[in-house]
Amino acid sequence: MDLGLRGKTAIVTGASQGIGRAIAEALAAEGARVVLSARNEEKLRRAAGDICAAGGDATYLAGDLNEPETARRLLERARNEFGPVDVLVGNTGGPPSGLAAELPEGAWREAAELLFYPQLRLAQAVLPEMQARGWGRILFVTSISVKEPIENLALSNALRAAVTGFAKTLAREVAASGVTVNTLGPGYTATERVKHLFEDNAARQNTTPEELEQRLLAQIPARRMARPEEIAAVAAFLVSEPASYLTGQAVMVDGGYTHGLL
Ligand code: NAD
Repeated sequence: MDLGLRGKTAIVTGASQGIGRAIAEALAAEGARVVLSARNEEKLRRAAGDICAAGGDATYLAGDLNEPETARRLLERARNEFGPVDVLVGNTGGPPSGLAAELPEGAWREAAELLFYPQLRLAQAVLPEMQARGWGRILFVTSISVKEPIENLALSNALRAAVTGFAKTLAREVAASGVTVNTLGPGYTATERVKHLFEDNAARQNTTPEELEQRLLAQIPARRMARPEEIAAVAAFLVSEPASYLTGQAVMVDGGYTHGLL
């Protein structure tokens, strides 16, 4: 299937490693011109360099998406290098773990700065040019926590829900202009983030990261974690031309992990 992404300008945030990087690679492999963004310049340079070495078209901008200025510079870079933005994939790192009953108010504010506001800012900034041209794709990476809250991850459970509500509302507002807005919830995926979660939770539960991983795998019907490329393949379809009638959806890619019927 031709995903119709050749020559399109795509921004992917949180793209220096893990799921974001895999999405940037997948879009570039489909012929999109990709602007990668994250905090770590060295990793970004490598990720963009690898894409170009594989025959793709990529550039990058390092910056912290907690700061509104980063979003502004990112859009400027995309427009100057590749032209108006056609595809936005909003992704950042996960928030720290912690209990809803204990996390202080400041932690909630920081989590909103990390998970919610960057998505809001970037989406509002790219919308006018997408609507003016009658085509656009916005995809936010969230988590399976929007379907089933994850123990000790209160910040993710609450703020991903906010992103999902924003996406659903926005999708309906802009659907008539050819712009789709969806969210993708990865299940457990073998990245640095998950390694750190195992280490963090193991210390808390007085066990080992390996033991925790085995317990988790037993709960995943697929009996393994996802590879980032498996998440990226679905992301590429969600922002593709053929996915033109798919909007306002929260798509879980989780090896069967979540139990809900819908
Ligand atoms: P990761 O930690 O490996 O990568 C996160 C990326 O986001 C990195 O490129 C990092 O530089 C960037 N980033 C973090 N904070 C940023 C900031 N303030 N400004 C700019 N860039 C920032 O994470 P991952 O495993 O690839 O996961 C990606 C997203 O998917 C995260 O939000 C994560 O919580 C979510 N998720 C992951 C899993 C999983 O199992 N890996 C499961 C569910 C949800």
